[in-house]
Amino acid sequence: MEKKIILSGMQPTGKLHLGNLEGALKNWVSLQDDYLMHCCIVDWHSLTSEYTNTGDLKEKVFQMAVDYLAAGLDPKKCAIFVQSQVKEHAELHLLFSMLVPIPRLARVPSYKEKRKELGLDSYGFLGYPVLQAADILIYRANYVPVGQDQLPHIELTREIARKFNSLYGEIFPEPEAKLTKFPVIPGIDGRKMSKSYNNDITMGESSEQTTSKIMRMYTDPKKIYKGDSGHPEECPVYLLHQIYTPDYKNLYPVCHSGELGCVECKKLLAKNLNKALEPIRAKRKKLEANPERVWDVLESGAKRARKRARETMGDVRNAMGIF
Ligand code: SF4
Repeated sequence: MEKKIILSGMQPTGKLHLGNLEGALKNWVSLQDDYLMHCCIVDWHSLTSEYTNTGDLKEKVFQMAVDYLAAGLDPKKCAIFVQSQVKEHAELHLLFSMLVPIPRLARVPSYKEKRKELGLDSYGFLGYPVLQAADILIYRANYVPVGQDQLPHIELTREIARKFNSLYGEIFPEPEAKLTKFPVIPGIDGRKMSKSYNNDITMGESSEQTTSKIMRMYTDPKKIYKGDSGHPEECPVYLLHQIYTPDYKNLYPVCHSGELGCVECKKLLAKNLNKALEPIRAKRKKLEANPERVWDVLESGAKRARKRARETMGDVRNAMGIF
């Protein structure tokens, strides 16, 4: 039986952090045996907010590709490529943009939120979800692994597929969201881990840097001294223990009773986290020392992606009577 198709993507922000690893990459790696994965580095999307700052885009793409591979994505199993290397995304985006009324785009929650928050008001930013629909439908993807916040974008993609099919014939499937439950990874200040908050722990940093960040991490503010009773359920350090410390449950009672101090608790987390990251760091080092290999992976991934994208565009042009 032919494998179902998945499209997943991330904007190139440079080196990825634990939030990206636990929230997306590990899931993608687990899907690559059973699905035909297309793992895209969506560089055009990043221009919606970073269009004045493109000088380091190539380096960011490179670092992201290194992290994809270091986390375990296998280029033999999935196409890893850069969006701008498959120009068919742009062509399909243009055609789709004729089908979507502007008020529909203005109602997309992320547009309303980020427009205010980031002061973005460009034509490209408004059309972002249409480009995303093209990214997905150009591969006639069946599933898109997303978090809850991306559901409105998938719904719009399905609407566009339906509208296109009703006008020109059945070309596109209606892709489904592959919702994954993953823990929200706290940053060192206790807020959600994010590069923009400058609270992240990257996958590739040294064990010393990681340890130093963990030792500075925010904890339960009610536990000041070792003997104080702590509340692990309110402590971001404990949240990370739940991922990286196999017998983390044993820490709960001793934190609560005051037997365990925060310094000792953080040292244990740093040890376990460094152990978990060690193989990823080792792979990263090898890849960084051999950049040609990384660019080759991206080129052969783009070749595979282009083949499929061109087939879709052939069908689209035929259906629309464009030659
Ligand atoms: S002992 Fe550990 S879990 Fe308890 S408050 Fe301190 S850092 Fe958090």
